[in-house]
Amino acid sequence: MSRIIIIGGGAAGLMAAVNAAEKGHKVVLLERGPKLGRKVLISGGGRCNVTNNRHSSIREFLANYPRGSKFLIGPFNKFGHQDLINWFEKRNLKLKTESDGRVFPFNNESSSVLNLLELEAKKYDVKIFLNTRVTSLEKSDDFFLVRLNNGNSLQAEKVIIACGGMSYSQTGSSGDAYAWAKNLGHKIIRPKPSLTGLLIREQWVKDLKGLTIPRVELKLCQSSKTIVKEAGSLLFTHWGISGPGVFKITSLAAGTNYEDFEYKLLINFFPQYTNIELQSVIRKHWSSNPKRKADNLLKGLIPQRLELMIADKVFQNSSSKAAKKTVSEINNKEFSHIIELLTSLEIQISGIRPSGEEIVTAGGVCLNEINSQTMESKIVKGLYWTGEVMDIDGFTGGYNLQAAWTTGWIAGNSV
Ligand SMILES: Cc1cc2nc3c(=O)[nH]c(=O)nc-3n(C[C@H](O)[C@H](O)[C@H](O)COP(=O)(O)OP(=O)(O)OC[C@H]3O[C@@H](n4cnc5c(N)ncnc54)[C@H](O)[C@@H]3O)c2cc1C
Repeated sequence: MSRIIIIGGGAAGLMAAVNAAEKGHKVVLLERGPKLGRKVLISGGGRCNVTNNRHSSIREFLANYPRGSKFLIGPFNKFGHQDLINWFEKRNLKLKTESDGRVFPFNNESSSVLNLLELEAKKYDVKIFLNTRVTSLEKSDDFFLVRLNNGNSLQAEKVIIACGGMSYSQTGSSGDAYAWAKNLGHKIIRPKPSLTGLLIREQWVKDLKGLTIPRVELKLCQSSKTIVKEAGSLLFTHWGISGPGVFKITSLAAGTNYEDFEYKLLINFFPQYTNIELQSVIRKHWSSNPKRKADNLLKGLIPQRLELMIADKVFQNSSSKAAKKTVSEINNKEFSHIIELLTSLEIQISGIRPSGEEIVTAGGVCLNEINSQTMESKIVKGLYWTGEVMDIDGFTGGYNLQAAWTTGWIAGNSV
């Protein structure tokens, strides 16, 4: 059996380590941080959304990967979300599926996922070295030379790289492996932040901080051209907007230079209705109470803080003016303005959250150069790639961890 070095002790590295060691290989796991799985621990708000169980086919599941979906067909056929659920449950980690399909540990504790992986690694005698950062990786004819930050170096016939991307770099993933990949002849698709928040300067956005709208439709436009359109929930914050809907937009448009100030977002708060339908919904709402004051005009239809913002915009920032009017006195121009604000509220984007705060990295090691059946490099024999370091990323909902588990499992089993 070979000696295998795995670089990175996150989801992909741990999965690879357990599977390779279970097969009888001597596995050494090198982790730069003081503990394993720091991203696993913080994932899913500390609950670890391990995968998603909403889809009836692999094809449907793959639709949640803006990059990597074609590459993942083979891997998911070998070790898909149901295999993962079985893998954990066979090892006594009880899981639950929430109504939207997201799968969590039954006790809502991400530490139970990490504990299980650590126990399995221990059971199969994986040698774990913490606080051990790999500084370079070279290949001679027969072996890899792995240099460490403590001045030592190690040799192995096979190496699995599981260093992650560049997201949440405080968890250890700071893109170290890209330079090694380039030196070994791999192409790197430019790493870009994905699943991140958008910065907005307008004060009214900041005034709505803390407000979540469960389902809106968002259109990202460059000048007047729509670039991407997505639906999802929206969260207002003190710096701009966030939440799953915004994450999808920043994922689909990863790499966009928002600092150009050419980009705006159009928000539709009523994607379930056409404009005509919405008009009649509102007219009907008002007809039940024509004495309703105009600054209360959408009560029960949208949250009050949003309603006040809309009244402010329609009645030119004069809430006292609005307060005096009744809905039956609203003229056609004001009515059209209300509909426009509810269906295509425009906000100017001034940037994205600072680099490193994104949830995942889009881009990474070019997938054309990796064998999807084994995760082995097509360029360097004995070198395997797993997890977020590759040019694979998904939406929120368990898809990123699933890609890490699957590719880790395949590398561990085929190494
Ligand atoms: C806040 C947050 C919440 C998330 N929630 C979810 C979720 O609920 N569900 C989901 O599917 N996805 C979620 N994700 C994304 C998901 O966690 C990652 O895509 C996934 O963990 C990537 O796994 P990985 O093993 O490839 O990389 P990582 O987890 O980043 O692990 C890489 C490891 O390599 C180590 N390393 C890096 N360089 C070196 C080096 N030179 N030498 C030695 N070690 C090194 C790092 O210290 C790190 O431990 C979340 C991400 C964030 C940031």
